[in-house]
Amino acid sequence: MKILIATDMEGITGVTMWDHVTPGHAEYARFRRLMTQDVNAAIRGAIDGGAGEIIVADGHWNGSNILVEELDPRAKLNSGSPSPFSMMQGLDTGVGGVFFIGYHARQGSQNAILDHTWSDTCVANVWLNEMIAGEYTLNAALAGHYNAPVLMVSGDQTVCAQVRDQIGNVEVAVVKQASGRFAAECLAPEITSQLIHEAAQRAVKRLAKKDAPKPFRRDRKITFPFCGYACAE
Ligand SMILES: [Zn+2]
Repeated sequence: MKILIATDMEGITGVTMWDHVTPGHAEYARFRRLMTQDVNAAIRGAIDGGAGEIIVADGHWNGSNILVEELDPRAKLNSGSPSPFSMMQGLDTGVGGVFFIGYHARQGSQNAILDHTWSDTCVANVWLNEMIAGEYTLNAALAGHYNAPVLMVSGDQTVCAQVRDQIGNVEVAVVKQASGRFAAECLAPEITSQLIHEAAQRAVKRLAKKDAPKPFRRDRKITFPFCGYACAE
């Protein structure tokens, strides 16, 4: 059983503002370490649940956030950008299930830390075959094309609810309760590591028992309108 741990940074333990997730900012170094800890908790949980192989995709900004020197050595890390599958790099290597770690809600969500869809300056909203989509929707559909179900998500309460609403009955680890776009009640890493570990373990056990959510497969005929802002990117 091979698991892809697809990561982003906005939904990582303790993150509430852009400074925390922006390379070059003094605060960023702290949150790289916390991101690595959240990922390691997911790796431990996956292994304890019975996963045989684990591949991690670093999906935030330039894909170079996770500290490889602190990575649990039982996983391999896809780092850097651009890569063919972007936030889902490694998906085409026989993956049996996908975790979303550190994910965030779609653009325009209430009570959602750093809500956006791909770009907070260029994209207002995106629809995938008439379903309003977050990054999790697009990445879940890509995984579905490869017959891999999404098994779990970690992040704030809003992204966890959105993923369950759209993608299916996945395991969740709510690491913070957002009360706005830049404010949340955060749990300590000691607690969130435990929540992520437990959700990951349950997720892989369910996959083994054939009790996991179905792959999120979309109609082959894809429509993909979006509305955006004028921007220079
Ligand atoms: Zn990100």
